[in-house]
Amino acid sequence: MNETLNIAEQTLVLHRHPRNKQETLQAWDSADEYLINYFNENQLEKHLGEDEQILLINDGFGALSCYFQEFERTVISDSYLSLSSIKLNMQRNNCPEENVLIQDCLQSFPKNVKIVLIKIPKTLAYLEFLLQQLRDVLSPETIVVAAGKVNMIHNSTLQLFEQYIGSTKTSLAKKKSRLIFSLVEQQEVPEKEIALTWEIEKQDWKIHNHANVFSRNHLDIGGRFLMDNLPEGDFSKIVDLGCGNGIVGMAASQAYPEAQITFIDESYMAVDSARINMLKNLPEEQTDNARFVVNNGLVGFKPRTYDLILCNPPFHQQQAITDHIAWSMFNDARFCLADGGELVIVGNRHLDYQDKLERIFGNCELVTENKKFVILRAVKMD
Ligand code: SAM
Repeated sequence: MNETLNIAEQTLVLHRHPRNKQETLQAWDSADEYLINYFNENQLEKHLGEDEQILLINDGFGALSCYFQEFERTVISDSYLSLSSIKLNMQRNNCPEENVLIQDCLQSFPKNVKIVLIKIPKTLAYLEFLLQQLRDVLSPETIVVAAGKVNMIHNSTLQLFEQYIGSTKTSLAKKKSRLIFSLVEQQEVPEKEIALTWEIEKQDWKIHNHANVFSRNHLDIGGRFLMDNLPEGDFSKIVDLGCGNGIVGMAASQAYPEAQITFIDESYMAVDSARINMLKNLPEEQTDNARFVVNNGLVGFKPRTYDLILCNPPFHQQQAITDHIAWSMFNDARFCLADGGELVIVGNRHLDYQDKLERIFGNCELVTENKKFVILRAVKMD
């Protein structure tokens, strides 16, 4: 698999992070290449005045952040894995650190932006959130160019650019990618709350979901199945691993009110929604006992610490379907569980997590199942 990007007089070595031994995917795509080539062919750098910068939104693994290393720039993403990849790839390619600010998408966007380069995200709601934030920092002279795979650019995508930025057109497709150009125009933009809130009746909870949170429109049925099948026991240190909006950890907090719950996700929006949901829905004693951490699984967490880890594992990283994040989560869980501690997961029946857990833990019990999902339990034994 090719890890060297040769483009417009630069050679960059780029890895996807976290590393996967059997990696078959590159750390950049044709949309990155299209954006870089467009920038060069049109000499966009000539538009950058003193004290003006480039804003890079949703750079997946650092191709754009590294390529534009000579310019002042701010890099924005909702993904901790993307931001970590960007930092590692910048180090790998000896990019200077002084002229770049790397931040998550919930922080304010910088004001002195002259060029905005956007990789189209998977969900429209998250794109809408980004365009809404962007609108506040654009001037009529700002150049806005987005890029994505052809199959991710629909009429609804272009409509959002029209609504929030101004007149919008697209380029021809090259290597299955397309560019989007939007002129910044004076116009009224929708004043819309993009985060969604809905109720879980059984618990009487109101669940807040930022734009990029997993299953933001409704309660995930896998998550619901796990909430309804928490193990019996006297647990004191619990992790909701890949917490999304936090529903599984909240159910655990209700079931074991004395326990300390740690909510972990690699999405900043997810962890913020989980925090909001705990504060809004559960008593103060329980929220005082909760921690909210943006992280890659349990990487860097202490060994032999937790007695219960609950997980509805992810099966995507960005656009790619993969089980390697689930694998690392299960391995991390084994490392961080105390002796006798349990990992309880929910998974689609066809994903064969049972085999993985048997291999990692040496045991795995089918707790319950329905037509679509299984709940599995593995115990740390030494
Ligand atoms: N627990 C929630 C539920 O049941 O509705 C969400 C489950 S969703 C299937 C998986 C979650 O794992 C997503 O919120 C995703 O952002 C998160 N995730 C993906 N990769 C991760 C990683 N490396 N570390 C932590 N969380 C991750």
